[in-house]
Amino acid sequence: DTTAHYYRPPINQAATGRVPVAIGRKRRRVVVTGGSGFVGSHLVDKLIARGDDVIVIDNFFTGRKENVAHHFGNPRFELIRHDVVEPILLEVDQIYHLACPASPVHYKFNPTNVMGTLNMLGLAKRIGARFLLTSTSEVYGDPLEHPQKETYWGHVNPIGVRSCYDEGKRTAETLTMDYHRGDGVEVRIARIFNTYGPRMCLDDGRVVSNFVAQAIRKQPMTVYGDGKQTRSFQYVSDLVDGLMALMEGEHIGPFNLGNPGEFTMLELAQVVKETIDPSATIEFKENTADDPQKRKPDISKAKSMLNWEPKITLREGLPRMAADFRNRILNEDEGKGN
Ligand code: NAD
Ligand code: UDP
Ligand code: UDP
Repeated sequence: DTTAHYYRPPINQAATGRVPVAIGRKRRRVVVTGGSGFVGSHLVDKLIARGDDVIVIDNFFTGRKENVAHHFGNPRFELIRHDVVEPILLEVDQIYHLACPASPVHYKFNPTNVMGTLNMLGLAKRIGARFLLTSTSEVYGDPLEHPQKETYWGHVNPIGVRSCYDEGKRTAETLTMDYHRGDGVEVRIARIFNTYGPRMCLDDGRVVSNFVAQAIRKQPMTVYGDGKQTRSFQYVSDLVDGLMALMEGEHIGPFNLGNPGEFTMLELAQVVKETIDPSATIEFKENTADDPQKRKPDISKAKSMLNWEPKITLREGLPRMAADFRNRILNEDEGKGN
């Protein structure tokens, strides 16, 4: 389906007088920061399949070369090892900014959200590229409004252990809007809710990857606290569709991108048991501080303005992820034997 995706010059071109880099070209040049990570690598697959030229910028902090290795040798694909905290010069039409240490185990003390976003916005400003920020549902903190609409300002602890991530993303949203208002940069903001799927980090401590890996390894699934806290889990291909619809569309956002199906952690464990291993067991562990009790996106805005909604249910998505996890866990075990 290549006909629908022709190159469109930036809307603010007339206002800024900037010449789009890709004038006369049909193919877009797209940067994906964090493109060798979980979400980024699936986005890269879809952009390449659509016919774009894709440059991945990644420092392999949590990403893996294996996630994009199938594009090596493709002249339309380029991988740059680079930390977005440092400036970079490139010429592209669109910037998907995903680079970020995304899990609680990895994100502490890291200024990527602020410095990395600033550099990518500076880049977008200089070259007149459209910039998309992947923000997070964590900007809502431990929400006092349920489900969360984009108009909700959030309930966030500025000095808590999670604040480097959630306040970092809030700052990134602020910078994004400032570059839009002040410098006319074309921006898009996605607030992503919990997403799972193949290529997720095996060991970053998130609940879906923990439960699935534990079930495959025949270990008990670790339920934190009483397991009654809720989350809404989105399959990665739905998210990628949403990100691309947002980038191509006319609306800045922010848009919630998530699956509104809400599950307690105990229910999630039950679905893993049903779809992956009927003999799986659970064990209770102490919960971490500041753990949000409930989270569920209100996606009416994305539905009406982006014509997007998720299609894959948890029961459909989990087995697809499990197939990839089984392979990787098997390879790991074989590696240990060597
Ligand atoms: P991930 O850890 O798999 O991907 C992040 C990528 O960024 C990795 O490849 C990592 O190596 C790279 N990276 C980190 N710091 C970098 C730096 N300083 N310079 C260059 N590259 C760097 O995580 P993901 O789940 O794919 O998340 C992608 C984006 O989506 C993140 O911005 C994250 O905050 C956002 N998000 C994800 C979820 C989710 O559930 N997966 C939810 C909300 C928001
Ligand atoms: N930047 C970058 N690549 C570019 C343009 C800018 O990495 O092509 C970085 C730049 O080094 C700076 C940040 O983006 O740290 C913000 O740039 P901007 O021009 O907005 O701010 P200034 O440099 O004027 O403070
Ligand atoms: N959680 C759990 N067992 C685990 C890992 C996480 O019960 O092994 C819980 C955690 O306490 C939280 C929920 O699962 O309530 C989602 O955690 P995750 O880190 O995946 O995402 P986030 O808290 O960022 O939404």
